[in-house]
Amino acid sequence: MEIRQTVEIRVRGTVQGVGFRPTVWRLACDEGLVGEVLNDGFGVLIRTTGNSGAISQFLTRLHSEAPPLSQIEDVETQVLTLLDFEDFRIAESVRGENCTRVTPDAAICAACWAEVLDPQERRYGYPFANCTHCGPRFSIVKEVPYDRINTTMADFPMCASCTSEYLQPADRRFHAQPIACPTCGPSIWLERMDTSATSAHPRATAPLDSAIELLESGAVVAIRGLGGFHLACDATNPEAVQRLRRRKHRYGKPFALMASDLDTIRRYCNLTSAEADLLRSPEAPIVLLSADGLEKLPEGIAPGLNTVGFMLPYTPLHLLITRQIDRPLVMTSGNISDE
Ligand SMILES: [Zn+2]
Ligand SMILES: [Zn+2]
Repeated sequence: MEIRQTVEIRVRGTVQGVGFRPTVWRLACDEGLVGEVLNDGFGVLIRTTGNSGAISQFLTRLHSEAPPLSQIEDVETQVLTLLDFEDFRIAESVRGENCTRVTPDAAICAACWAEVLDPQERRYGYPFANCTHCGPRFSIVKEVPYDRINTTMADFPMCASCTSEYLQPADRRFHAQPIACPTCGPSIWLERMDTSATSAHPRATAPLDSAIELLESGAVVAIRGLGGFHLACDATNPEAVQRLRRRKHRYGKPFALMASDLDTIRRYCNLTSAEADLLRSPEAPIVLLSADGLEKLPEGIAPGLNTVGFMLPYTPLHLLITRQIDRPLVMTSGNISDE
């Protein structure tokens, strides 16, 4: 027999600043529960009232549908005397909220990926789209607690549309500190270092189109990523690769490559499903692959080796550039300052 009860649920782990409360809110509403969720010094605290079956279903889904950047270490439940709530709400955080734990930067999520490529979306083509499931964290924080005012985004006040997303629990940008859009967020620009070179005078005027045109013409372009610059060039152009090697004073070591999607990588490497999963994980790691595909890369990419390191775009800017170019780019670290 189903009984109506109130349960207190304590969740510990990486559960703050990763969209955990909105997920709790959504699952609780789905299961017809009432109650509240809040952040405190120990993690997330949930008090909920409903049928025992619904509560146990909620607990199961809390694990299976936890937000991608969260890591649940421990869940404790305790039955309380029956409490009545009007609805399910996200309550004010209580003092002692553990804001000092800032999660690492995370690669662009599937939802933001689709959004920046969809002409119907207001963030179509926007290089700084992010949400609670993805984007910069560690690289933009200047001080704790991790609130917008303590990040490099403090100079960009949210517009009305972003504010309403930020305040809406059902939105995946609920309390996303770096939330931004073309109206209120940062924009990109392109600087020329060697303006005498003919390739440094592209016809396109928009920074993104100019950068793409430069890359297609064999130029080396420095692209800002999370926390630093990459030097990039067309990985299928042997002269461009040699030019980058001279510039980096890097003669023997292999270069890492970035391609817009798995299909592009498959032209050069036969991927296993484990390799594909690793490439798509939130860390967007460089994965070392056998260069056993139908198409071959120039010898200068990985001299003397039959392997090549690939990664997928991990910011919208990378995605927008690699999508247009439709071939892999060399992406080698190099802050402008030490070039
Ligand atoms: Zn996202
Ligand atoms: Zn905005």
